[in-house]
Amino acid sequence: MNRTAHAPPLRAISRGSLDSLISALGLEPEIDEGILGCDFCEEVVTRETLFAVFPEDETVKLVCNRPRCIKLFALHIQRARLR
Ligand SMILES: [Zn+2]
Repeated sequence: MNRTAHAPPLRAISRGSLDSLISALGLEPEIDEGILGCDFCEEVVTRETLFAVFPEDETVKLVCNRPRCIKLFALHIQRARLR
């Protein structure tokens, strides 16, 4: 049994699971009303621009799909892991 060829990609959350995560967290109304902002650039995040969701300080933070925010998010995750 060799599974090494199927190592999970860095971006482990697929479009579909991001949608179910949104509903599991009860964020659907806020997303659809356009009142949730990206934690890095503060632009409104929609289902189309949502890149990732991560928990911090007992809240849920969102990341949009701008290259700059994805980069900041990656750095942020790295730092959090080193803590
Ligand atoms: Zn952003």
